[in-house]
Amino acid sequence: MDGCHPDSVVVSKCMEFRIRPTIEQKILIWKTFGCCRFVWNHLLDERISHEKVNKGKLLNTTPAHLKKDNPFLSEVDSMALCNVQLNLNQACRRLFPKGRAPKFRAKGKDKRSYTTNWINNNIEIVHKSDIENYIKLPKLGRVRIILHRSIPDEWRMKHATIKETASGKFFISLTFDVEIRPKEPMKEFDKVEAFDYSLPSLVVSASGENDITSDDIRWYRNLENRIAKEQRKLSRMQYGSRNYWEQKHKIGKLHEKARNRRKDFLHKLSRKVSDSFDAVVVEDINLQHMSQALNFGKSVYDNGYGLLRNMLAYKLEEQGEVLVKVDRFFPSSKRCSVCHEVNHDLKLSDRQWTCPSCGTHHDRDKNSCKNLLDEGKDILNRWTGGDSSLILAPSGVLSGKKLHPQARYNVRQDGE
Ligand SMILES: [Zn+2]
Repeated sequence: MDGCHPDSVVVSKCMEFRIRPTIEQKILIWKTFGCCRFVWNHLLDERISHEKVNKGKLLNTTPAHLKKDNPFLSEVDSMALCNVQLNLNQACRRLFPKGRAPKFRAKGKDKRSYTTNWINNNIEIVHKSDIENYIKLPKLGRVRIILHRSIPDEWRMKHATIKETASGKFFISLTFDVEIRPKEPMKEFDKVEAFDYSLPSLVVSASGENDITSDDIRWYRNLENRIAKEQRKLSRMQYGSRNYWEQKHKIGKLHEKARNRRKDFLHKLSRKVSDSFDAVVVEDINLQHMSQALNFGKSVYDNGYGLLRNMLAYKLEEQGEVLVKVDRFFPSSKRCSVCHEVNHDLKLSDRQWTCPSCGTHHDRDKNSCKNLLDEGKDILNRWTGGDSSLILAPSGVLSGKKLHPQARYNVRQDGE
């Protein structure tokens, strides 16, 4: 990039705002969702037939030829259709070599969103008064936007995604290119906290002050039970009937409530932790693999351990602090935190154990947290000592792992 400071990097940041389209604008947004689905299905059909004859050569047709026979496509934002083509190509390139194909999109089950790009100020925030703001969007014109926080002037808009939630609210998520000069991280980390993922207590902290227990998220379980109950009601209703859609709406609202509450809870916790500690250590576990391997099911996702890690990373980074990720093969639970002997016989069901080597009695979670803390402190020491095998990503994550080139530039503002 030109004019860039030599030390600076460009990261993308994302902000989401509520929008309040008028009924005419809503209709056009719904039409755009429909046209995106139409283009996806038609182009996919063409690509699949082409693939059968010309193995390995991807057909790269644009939505333009569809417009001749289907003039309604010209009514909606052409950039949205263009992005469908790009996404489809990407999916085909990934799946065709494996002998698979992307799925066709069905009405009613499709994701309700579309993405458009910023070109020559086609998307612009228009301030009318302190409380009345609009966003200018292609084809839609000015849409009322609730600017709950201001957008820094130097952020350059890249693209915008307009979406409708299950409860019928509209949001716009804006992605920006932001030039940042990575903050010089502090050189001394006096106060370090460690988090370990554990069941049934969810998340255990080394200090013991920031544990998340099932009591903390009881409200979440309650909501979940209510969702399950409403879902059972839905299953007895006739698909497509008026009651059916009303019930679906209701369930969508409950899901949103659960998501918002969880986010809010984790935001508060991560704020508290990043304010009172200089660095936080977590284990670099792959949550997806973990839920499959140990059959924990969705509870792994429920407590949002991954979400918490992301929120911690960017909140720490803002203050020149770091999130340390310990390699997933580090035997945090099987190692004795006193004599460092690894107990290979330890089973997942053993909540308490005695070290065969030094005789110390351990609480499984506390021991594993202590190990993570020690390992994390060791990593921090090596890093401040100049160990070049450790990398601090712009997202504030310190680890020994080589980062995917794309991952370095993917810092999310809202933590999700
Ligand atoms: Zn021991």
